[in-house]
Amino acid sequence: MIKKHDRQKNEKGRNDPRAQAALPIDPAVKARQFQTLRGMKDVFGEDQHRWFLLEKEARRSAEDYGFQWMETPMLEESALFVKTIGRGTDIVDQEMFSFETQGGEKVSLRPENTAAMVRAYIQHGMWTQPQPVKLWYWGPFFRYDRPQAGRLREFHQLGFEVLGDASPLADALLMIQAVELLGSIGITVDVELNSIGCTTCRPTYIEQLTQYYREHRSSICAECKKRLGKNVLRVLDCKERGCERIKAEAPQSVDALCEACKDHFMRLLEYLDERDVPYMLQPTLVRGLDYYTRTVFEIVVREPEAAAASGAAPASKLALAGGGRYDGLVEFLGGRPTPGLGIAFGIERVIHAVRNAASTVPEPVEKRVFVAQLGEAARRSALKLFGKLRQQGIPVAHSFSKDGLKAQLEVANALKVPYTLIVGQKEVLDHTVLIRDMEGGVQEIVAEDRLISELQRRLSELNGVKAVRVPAPPIEPDEPLDPEDIEVL
Ligand SMILES: [Zn+2]
Ligand SMILES: [Zn+2]
Repeated sequence: MIKKHDRQKNEKGRNDPRAQAALPIDPAVKARQFQTLRGMKDVFGEDQHRWFLLEKEARRSAEDYGFQWMETPMLEESALFVKTIGRGTDIVDQEMFSFETQGGEKVSLRPENTAAMVRAYIQHGMWTQPQPVKLWYWGPFFRYDRPQAGRLREFHQLGFEVLGDASPLADALLMIQAVELLGSIGITVDVELNSIGCTTCRPTYIEQLTQYYREHRSSICAECKKRLGKNVLRVLDCKERGCERIKAEAPQSVDALCEACKDHFMRLLEYLDERDVPYMLQPTLVRGLDYYTRTVFEIVVREPEAAAASGAAPASKLALAGGGRYDGLVEFLGGRPTPGLGIAFGIERVIHAVRNAASTVPEPVEKRVFVAQLGEAARRSALKLFGKLRQQGIPVAHSFSKDGLKAQLEVANALKVPYTLIVGQKEVLDHTVLIRDMEGGVQEIVAEDRLISELQRRLSELNGVKAVRVPAPPIEPDEPLDPEDIEVL
């Protein structure tokens, strides 16, 4: 029977010229193996537990600090990024994945998330909610960067944005949160920070800086000469040795701050002192995006003391996160004047740092039970048992595709499970299960109807109540889906 909406869907498919023009497959393409695109990579294997660990700690941190989850689309109007990040930045000038859709819209894969979060804040009228509105996210971002610099073209960020809070305490809290979050996964960091002023005092600074660099124009690199005409703050980001030398003597933004900005910055430092946050003033840190005001900061991996003591040349420090205040951005995008600030973590960088600090982060091993079976009847019975255990919230594992008991026990050993449940022909007939203690090798026959309570007892003895998960309540559908809405399925 063909339902009405199916028929409509089929007709729609026939009339749609895009559906008819199937992609032609070049024979040369047919013959070769596909690879990930340049600068993109698959995440799997050993890294997965590091990703899960970071995600778990990030979520806990978000909950504790009162952030709500917000996921925005990966595609936005190109103009959103051009307007907020600004021309003259590498991101907008060279690094955006931009294209025109079939409908003629100019769109870009998001290169960062602050612009989209602010767009969402305005679009959903979030200024009517109690302020500040605190949002967090986790997801992929895209920059058409040179992959040889060790950067990926698809990378992931985790971030926190605070909208509607002008207090320097909000700045301090974001830094405290970042130091704690990275600490919770075994990474020791320092905060580097600066203040680049507001619309009142920043123009003065930019004037001083432009003046200074004009005088030293002959000593800076070709790239910086270009930047000088477009966005002088970007010159301070240059890592060329010659430019670094000139930068050392450049005027500093903190010296040009107006009274209000100075007061904000001083209070921020007091809050950081209060919590003993390890920070360093970094007078040339500007994070050259157009929308930053006042506080800008980066979270950098602390150099191991051994390396520092050896007197080795200090490598440029690895920044795991960066952020700042953007008090004018909401208004700039058409919302009411609303102060804001945020931080973004480069997830790949954090994972890399976790890998380096691996000795201090134990791989989480969950105490599970393994279900093993011997023979076809037992396999069916074990399949049922596996489902029943999961329903009861008992963490389980299996290797049903293996026939031999020895092979299955090897898997169980590799998973470091404390107990394996063995179901054989005899157990099926007797309605029993064999519990094998993997450490001592002791086996005990337990009646099927006593099994759950016996396992719960043993697992909670092993590692407290945590071993037994509370089964999730069934999810009730909000409202039936309209078949018209799911034609892509
Ligand atoms: Zn100011
Ligand atoms: Zn330069």
